[in-house]
Amino acid sequence: MQYYDVMKLFDIDIEAGLKTAERVNPKYKPVFDKFNPEQRAVLAWYFLPHKSDKEVLGVTRPRVVKWYCPFADQKEFPSGHRYCINVYAGCGHKCKYCYAQGYEPNQAKCKDNFKKKLLKDLVEIREFNLPPAPVHLSNSTDPLQPIEQHQKLTLYTLQQLLRYRRYFTSIVILTKNPSALLELQYLDTLKERTKLPDGHLCQNFFKDNSVPTLRIEVSLAFSSQQDADFYDPGAPSIANRMQAIQQLRQNDIPVTLRIDPLLPRNPLPNGSTLSDFQLPNAQSLAGLEKLVRFAEENGMLHIVYSVAKIIAPRYKPIPEAMHQLKQVYEYVAKPDKLIFRGGSWRLPETIAKKQIVEPFLKTCESYGIKAYFCKQNLFSTP
Ligand code: SF4
Repeated sequence: MQYYDVMKLFDIDIEAGLKTAERVNPKYKPVFDKFNPEQRAVLAWYFLPHKSDKEVLGVTRPRVVKWYCPFADQKEFPSGHRYCINVYAGCGHKCKYCYAQGYEPNQAKCKDNFKKKLLKDLVEIREFNLPPAPVHLSNSTDPLQPIEQHQKLTLYTLQQLLRYRRYFTSIVILTKNPSALLELQYLDTLKERTKLPDGHLCQNFFKDNSVPTLRIEVSLAFSSQQDADFYDPGAPSIANRMQAIQQLRQNDIPVTLRIDPLLPRNPLPNGSTLSDFQLPNAQSLAGLEKLVRFAEENGMLHIVYSVAKIIAPRYKPIPEAMHQLKQVYEYVAKPDKLIFRGGSWRLPETIAKKQIVEPFLKTCESYGIKAYFCKQNLFSTP
């Protein structure tokens, strides 16, 4: 279907679409500017409330296949035309550092009419013939957490994405439970997903640049089970995650390791240690090295990292461990203050780099494996 057919179908013309695009909130403008006029008009008609008489239009259409930018703030929307499907609300893994705890429910649950809404979105994306974009499962919930065993909504989503494959470029699944993907029905679906259908607009790009069209990002930040039990109490064991990664690799499924979040490690400045703050030394350099070596030995694509943020939950108290971690941050940052941005406290960047990130990056470098900051990882996913 050509773009002008879509325009006829929805009784709009390119001029009207482009006029709508001109009213977009400036923070979304760079996304529109990347496309040709027909595509711009289609994107504007699909994502913007074109019947509104407001001078400035934001992206307001509620849907399951969301336009995705975890880094959007008041001034910018830097991740471009990119989708996220949060298959569930909440997460049963209950990681103490989870950034979604600030706005997600405590218990994992299914969204009302998820399947119906998903199909509606996918049909509309096809009808509008939107340009293909990467899709991420999921940024605020683990798509393979325990509830998936009974509900299978992630499996359903993957199967539907296969039907609508030409409207998506990379498919990225982020999880702490990769062993779920080893069940035959998931594995078969994943293998189908590694190919783009004939005639896909980006087929040559992916082929020419040897970029995988699907990858699994497995989150594994600790090498000791005791430390994982402290920070990731509801997630599958480290051994289980490592074994599943090895099996996915044996099946030629591309995998990225997320050593995420990075935390402060001993020794802290002035001879203090994490135990002074009732916290384990969960990420010694030797422990991190084990994970990096594992990534290298198993031919993983690259490593993704970010430094832990201390979330200020909106409707509940801050978990004890994160309260302690905040005290560590305040101690490490002295005489500077923590930065409070986007609902969370962060270490000042120069301190985080020097104390936490740089020694870790050196370890990655010594194993010849690339490490990307999470934002860089997201933006470089085509
Ligand atoms: S697995 Fe991810 S979404 Fe789930 S609790 Fe842990 S950090 Fe949050």
